[in-house]
Amino acid sequence: MFKKILIANRGEIACRVIKTARKMGIKTVAVYSEADKDALHVEMADEAVFIGPPPTAQSYLVIDRILQACKDTGAEAVHPGYGFLSERPAFCEALEKEGIVFIGPKVKAIDAMGDKITSKKLAKEAGVSTVPGYTEVIKDTKEAVEIASGIGYPVMIKASAGGGGKGMRIAWNDAECADGFERATNEARSSFGDDRVFIEKYIEEPRHIEIQVLGDSHGNIVYLGERECSLQRRHQKVIEEAPSPFLDEATRKAMGEQAVALSRAVDYQSAGTVEFIVDAKRNFYFLEMNTRLQVEHPVTEYVTGLDLVEQMIRVAAGEKLSFTQEDVKLKGWAIEARVYAEDPFRNFLPSIGRLVKYMPPKESDVVRVDTGIYEGSEVSMYYDPMIAKLITYGSTRDRAIAHMRDALNEFFIRGVQHNISFLAALMVHTRFMTGRISTNMIAEEYPQGFHASDVPHDDPALLISVAAFIHRRYMDRAAQTSGQLLGHERKVGNDWVVLMGGQQHPVHVDPADGGYDVVYMGETYQVRSDWQFGYPLFKGTLNGTEICIQVERRDMIYRLFHWGSQADMMVLSPRIADLQALMPVKAPPDLSKFLLSPMPGLLTKVAVVVGQEVKAGEELAVIEAMKMENVLRAEQDAKVAKVMAAPGDSLAVDQAIIEFE
Ligand code: ADP
Repeated sequence: MFKKILIANRGEIACRVIKTARKMGIKTVAVYSEADKDALHVEMADEAVFIGPPPTAQSYLVIDRILQACKDTGAEAVHPGYGFLSERPAFCEALEKEGIVFIGPKVKAIDAMGDKITSKKLAKEAGVSTVPGYTEVIKDTKEAVEIASGIGYPVMIKASAGGGGKGMRIAWNDAECADGFERATNEARSSFGDDRVFIEKYIEEPRHIEIQVLGDSHGNIVYLGERECSLQRRHQKVIEEAPSPFLDEATRKAMGEQAVALSRAVDYQSAGTVEFIVDAKRNFYFLEMNTRLQVEHPVTEYVTGLDLVEQMIRVAAGEKLSFTQEDVKLKGWAIEARVYAEDPFRNFLPSIGRLVKYMPPKESDVVRVDTGIYEGSEVSMYYDPMIAKLITYGSTRDRAIAHMRDALNEFFIRGVQHNISFLAALMVHTRFMTGRISTNMIAEEYPQGFHASDVPHDDPALLISVAAFIHRRYMDRAAQTSGQLLGHERKVGNDWVVLMGGQQHPVHVDPADGGYDVVYMGETYQVRSDWQFGYPLFKGTLNGTEICIQVERRDMIYRLFHWGSQADMMVLSPRIADLQALMPVKAPPDLSKFLLSPMPGLLTKVAVVVGQEVKAGEELAVIEAMKMENVLRAEQDAKVAKVMAAPGDSLAVDQAIIEFE
């Protein structure tokens, strides 16, 4: 076995690999860029080597730097994680030349699977079912239209060198096909420097289901069940689970055997993933093979009981697999949710900044948190804005979902925006709960984007009784402070009014053993908790059932966060509540007349001039943030009255860019 390995990656995956290496008694070397000098993976590793400035092209992607780090530290092998250099044949070859082991498959497999056309042909030859289509490079638009009508609409136009959902277009007719062909070709050329494009049938109501395979250098290859990754937003996975709620035993076996056949065809030696697209009738078709560890591998680890990183390291060191296909048993259910630094209520705009507060849920047998950050660290603009992967396990799917809901309640993040509300909303969505998902589900269910109204709280009495508890505990504590004049002590009343969503909810609060009994609308709610002021999490019981609610106090307002839903509440004495009802309501400023910057960033373009009439959907301005161009479009038809910022300006959130008439 290796004595020392280097991890050519950062963030959660670097930390995850280090954990396993440490468990196996292997020393670890981290590499880090300027932006990562205080990162968790650097702290966790036994040694760390600085490899350059923040941009990945000058650090994590520079093969020579990684090689030098291996030589300087004496690392015998390199784990590439995912992304970065994990699927670069040139990297494997460079390592091999120096006698350093690449913890992954052989170059031949990476090469063959790196190209969509080549891999599709190989799959066909290996007897794997592929999406009906044309696997030759298409010359021009005319040929594209002919081929598409031959296949039958709808079709998918894809870049052969594509990845990350780029260079893909759906076409439903000849005109869309001609247009899609040109766009896909251009996108492929600019993104991948390779404009080869091909066409296949578009599978309707598609589900993305992938098979985990594992091979050793002795010719053994097994499949470790499937992962369903159909919940995607813009072709990016959001929630993954194992097993799939859709597959039956026969389909699972057929997919598994085909995945193994394909792996065998390229002499696959390591952990790898064969992705399939599955239609509503459970017909499955090969999409591509990822020749590396996948982000969502933890769900497979939960249901198989295996440590995939350990298996990769053992296989790379020449060990034989210690089990056979018959030994592989799937047990229980696991779900992964990707927690991102992005604002779901603002069209999922990436958010950067310092994690002022970061309290992940407690890990246990059924809760796992894979993360590369800690409280006080920075979500930087240079890398993927993932905060953590939250994985839960249960004996059944429903239990795994219940654990996920609880864990999301406990996940406390402040300083950057995050998508926990969105993840919580998906967990209770009927389509998700009943397993009727497809890769289009998110787009279909949230056509106008995601809004606070998509996460209503289904039990307002819970929030009201907890707010009453919190306020009452606060008042009782204030009443106990010393220095009060004898005979003039502060008395805390039992009747209160909770103000929520503009509505008054009268409650009666009686102290009880370990908490308070709150009477609301004739019902008694027994709230018990040792919660004290300043605790961000209110943990306790409500009528005997455990609850966990995030609590923040902002002046007189208690902000509660539970099940993805946020509520601002005030608790007032009945007298004050009466007066409060008489207060004039301050009308919020009319912001519909302004285009506001949804994020901090650099204004790179203003596409309109004063006096111009714009139509809904028309481009207004472009902001660059986190290396991404974000196009701001008109929400409705309007006329530009004023342009209030110029290209080159650094914008703050909510800064006005354009005023309309
Ligand atoms: P990439 O390498 O860019 O991720 P993939 O080929 O893996 O591209 O496809 C990404 C996603 O696009 C899939 O998960 C699926 O949702 C969708 N997709 C790809 N091919 C098809 C198809 N033929 N029909 C329907 N959806 C498809």
